[in-house]
Amino acid sequence: MTDMNAGLRKLHALLTQLGEVRDELARGPRQVKAREALVEKAEVELETKREALKQAKASADRKALDLKTNEAKIADLQAKLNAASSNKEFDVIKGQIDADTVANSVLEDEILEVLETVDRLQIATGEGEQHVVLTREERDKRAQAVAAAESGLQSQVKELEAQVKEAEKILSGDAAANYRRLVEAHGADALAAVDGTICTNCYVAITPQMRVGLNSGKLIFCNCSRLLFVPVES
Ligand SMILES: [Zn+2]
Repeated sequence: MTDMNAGLRKLHALLTQLGEVRDELARGPRQVKAREALVEKAEVELETKREALKQAKASADRKALDLKTNEAKIADLQAKLNAASSNKEFDVIKGQIDADTVANSVLEDEILEVLETVDRLQIATGEGEQHVVLTREERDKRAQAVAAAESGLQSQVKELEAQVKEAEKILSGDAAANYRRLVEAHGADALAAVDGTICTNCYVAITPQMRVGLNSGKLIFCNCSRLLFVPVES
């Protein structure tokens, strides 16, 4: 096989490697961003739980105050009952006391229920706080790892770009311009290996003339536009 084909093979290998390193470089910030979104979600959920807890506590306080007010009212009625001057007055006051006592018993049940809700929300809020701490830790850990890897990956990109530039020197004229457009659009896929007589980009057989051209070291572009090369020594 010709020097030209060996050069194209090398160029393809370098472009592939360059694409992989660039992908890895781009993946880092995306991973950090994804974890940042998880932190924001955890923070919103925690805020919702805190708000619900606040409401439940306020409701418990309100009901406790109502209970106290009613108890004072019952004590007041009790005093009036003791001072009742007629049976009729006695019965009316007694009726009021009974009604208020029933109301307070209902209120006491409600308070117990709200306090259970407060307990449950307190646990949920604690868990929410823990979740926020954990997601923040994961985000920071990832951000540190990405930052630590970044400069190494960037110098790999620079190194590979220089090697690609060197390898591209085998191309000139129209072929070089064609290649430039292709590589900007498709990266390493600007070049397509030929498997026997089949272009591995479009899976269509190349003509015998194209194959002869390839064997004699000519630059051959497939009908699908890709620059063809033979993948292994043959
Ligand atoms: Zn093709």
